[in-house]
Amino acid sequence: MNEKDRNIQLVGLLNRYSYEYHTLDAPTVDDAVYDSLMSELKSLEAKYPDTILPESPTQRVGSEPSKKFEKYTHTERMISLLDSFSDQEAKAWLTRVTKLNPKVTNAEFWVDAKMDGLACALHYQDGVLVRAVTRGDGTTGEVVTSNIKTIPTIPIRLQGSSLNKGFLHGYTEVRGEIIMLKKDFDKLNEARKKNGDAMYANPRNLAAGTIRQLDPRLVAARPLRFHAYDVLRQNVSEIATNKEAYEALRTMGFVVNKEAHIEPDFEQVLNYADTFEKLRHELPYNTDGLVIKINDRGLYRSLGSVGKNPRGAIAYKYAAEQATTIVKDIVISIGRTGAATPVAVFDPVVVAGSTVRHASLHNADEIARKDIRVGDTVVIFKAGDIIPQVEAVLTELRPKNARSFNYIAELKRQYPELEFVRPEGEAVYRVKGLTGTIILKRSLEHYASKGALDIEGLGEKNVVALVDAGLVNDLADIYRLTKEQVLSLDRFAELSSVNLIQAIADKKNPPLAKFIFGLGIRHVGTQTAVDLANSFRNLDNLAVADLDELLAINGVGNIVAESLVAWFADLDNKILLEKFKTFGVIPQTVDHVGGLLSGKSFAITGSLGSMGRDLAAERIRALGGTFQSSVGKDTTYLITGDKVGASKLKKATMLGVKVIDETQLIKMLG
Ligand code: NAD
Repeated sequence: MNEKDRNIQLVGLLNRYSYEYHTLDAPTVDDAVYDSLMSELKSLEAKYPDTILPESPTQRVGSEPSKKFEKYTHTERMISLLDSFSDQEAKAWLTRVTKLNPKVTNAEFWVDAKMDGLACALHYQDGVLVRAVTRGDGTTGEVVTSNIKTIPTIPIRLQGSSLNKGFLHGYTEVRGEIIMLKKDFDKLNEARKKNGDAMYANPRNLAAGTIRQLDPRLVAARPLRFHAYDVLRQNVSEIATNKEAYEALRTMGFVVNKEAHIEPDFEQVLNYADTFEKLRHELPYNTDGLVIKINDRGLYRSLGSVGKNPRGAIAYKYAAEQATTIVKDIVISIGRTGAATPVAVFDPVVVAGSTVRHASLHNADEIARKDIRVGDTVVIFKAGDIIPQVEAVLTELRPKNARSFNYIAELKRQYPELEFVRPEGEAVYRVKGLTGTIILKRSLEHYASKGALDIEGLGEKNVVALVDAGLVNDLADIYRLTKEQVLSLDRFAELSSVNLIQAIADKKNPPLAKFIFGLGIRHVGTQTAVDLANSFRNLDNLAVADLDELLAINGVGNIVAESLVAWFADLDNKILLEKFKTFGVIPQTVDHVGGLLSGKSFAITGSLGSMGRDLAAERIRALGGTFQSSVGKDTTYLITGDKVGASKLKKATMLGVKVIDETQLIKMLG
């Protein structure tokens, strides 16, 4: 789907969500899903400002006021707040506003909990409540005065004192949030459960829905509260800071949050944001973050607003446990037991504070049940440290060319050399004829083989003995073998045990390419391992490489890229790599690529007199060259040895590949 169509689709869906949330008070998706799609829309609009649609939710506050109520135009627009989801984003805001007004450098900040409720403006004339108006679309709201009057924490007449004497005269507007405490919400829901009634979704929507009931008696029956956060006076200079505003609110008889306080600089604001992340769960009301305002109201006003947000304040929100992203591919990983697991590969997305690139889809039935297709927008869920899962598909955002996943066909395409079976009563497919033990033995043999880590004494028979004795359960385990353990096996004597332990210890810092090859990732041969090592320089970079980065490497096609992504997505493999690290197995970082033979490709026909084919390949690679098993368009040299194969020579001549002999090769290798 092109980005313009995506933009239109996002606007349509977000407006529907917004209507369900603000007007019907019955959201159908989690706030995090809304926020995640909104952030995608904002990036698209920033990239293509010409495509911003007038009905875009980025241009509006809330939703249109309901027709059920009389409408009222706000004296001053009721705002929304710019969201920030990390220290970095919050700091970027500070940098922007400091550029606009350097006085911000020395500013103090007023910090309060961002309550999850319904914003409302209370109008007082000479200290008496005359009107209450919901935020509505920010410009016009719904008049809900009779309903509001049933809320005990709203003074019908303002209390006075010497501090706010002035506010008892003339027009005073108090803004705040109508909320329901968590305990009151739970009590209501428990009663409904007992009666067999449908449960309410959350305190925010129940509070909002209640206020917008036509019958005030119904409102009176629900325990709502009003927590104030702002006071407006015609003469703005009457209140110089937000701290003063809160003091005045308290004296006038309003509830303000105990958490609201001043922070002397932004560093301390961020420290508090850190503390508040845990603290917020203990508060009696729901909050999804902090509101951070410049304390000096003159300075705040001088910054003005951009779109629907004031520049002088932001919302600091916490990592959501849900986010949306697009499925780029579905790859299949073959685990250590031979089970084939489908894995969805995403555009990287931050969920619960960490970047998620893939999620297991468990098995074919799960893909079918959730109807997950390549190209779909999905909701990713991650509670705490738990593994990410695809929670749902947003079918409204499905592009026309979304690709269904044919599991059997994909198994054949991604692993043409393997045969799979689905054992009776099991949901997963497995590689036919392989058990976990057989796979482990083969992997270890491969890891220790000459082309990989070349560990002397770890041939087939010893591998079998170590695995069968239960001394090695994965590749990394060999690094914690002790002499005594090895000696306990029939096959070993004192010297051979010492030698094996030493040979293993000697290979704790292998060349990166050898290590990558040694991991036994399907379709990753020696040359691919070298290319990967040269491109990514270290294992951590390779582990997070996405499909596009892998495909950009010469010689890496779809099958190899998918196999790599699937391997690094497998939880067992992640654990294995961590284990290697813990045992001090750190492959060498590739510092410089290039050498005498860099950019040149070699193939050999016939046998060489001075060295075997593997050694020749290794020496060519050590100098940055590429070794190929067959002659192709991109071959630079064909080396001829004894008993030359006619077909390679013929192909080389046809393609104009330069033919050299062993002496010339030795010269090149220095
Ligand atoms: P916002 O995030 O823009 O914040 C502004 C509001 O914060 C103000 O209007 C005010 O009422 C409130 N607020 C709470 N405590 C405050 C304090 N101490 N000081 C100042 N203001 C305070 O809020 P928004 O524009 O109401 O809406 C965005 C929110 O609504 C998002 O969290 C979004 O996820 C949610 N939403 C959800 C859906 C859905 O379908 N789930 C749809 C639309 C919107």
